[in-house]
Amino acid sequence: MSEPEKKELLYVETLRKNGVFLEIDNRFRNLETGMIAVPCADCDQRVDLIRHAESLFEEQNLPTRIHPLGLNGGAILIPEWSPLNINGEDGRVLMRHIRDAAVLKHIGLLVLYGHYPCGAAGLAKLSLEETVNLLMSAEGLVKETMSGMRVDAFFHVDYRNKKRTYFVSHRAWKQYRS
Ligand SMILES: [Zn+2]
Repeated sequence: MSEPEKKELLYVETLRKNGVFLEIDNRFRNLETGMIAVPCADCDQRVDLIRHAESLFEEQNLPTRIHPLGLNGGAILIPEWSPLNINGEDGRVLMRHIRDAAVLKHIGLLVLYGHYPCGAAGLAKLSLEETVNLLMSAEGLVKETMSGMRVDAFFHVDYRNKKRTYFVSHRAWKQYRS
């Protein structure tokens, strides 16, 4: 494992210790109508990421309804100031599809995903910290514009020997950064 990679995974541990990255257990709520998932398109992480989302439904004996909208980078495309949101186009397209999915499929839960390592984030030279910051901004922006929607953020980490998905606490992130 490279030194920069080790450093980023240490940062993941810092976020876990500070309650920003939390384990997701079967108490995770609001799955009844399904989930619009906004992950990165990454073909190497997709199976584990979706499998985890499916397991949340299975643990609660709910029908699995996952509506994935995955572009390169995922939810970090949404903020206007994201270096991956070229001319604001990517964010606009993603938001339009999120709104349409909510109406078409009557889904009340939106989960925005960030992940590490992310090729798209890497191309834009975004650190893990900057990636989480973009994810939290995306969550804030979507909450503002979609008032009837439950919006949460997850973060997927590939540790090479294991993969994990964490819930990202917006409140703990704000506290940690203040
Ligand atoms: Zn990615």
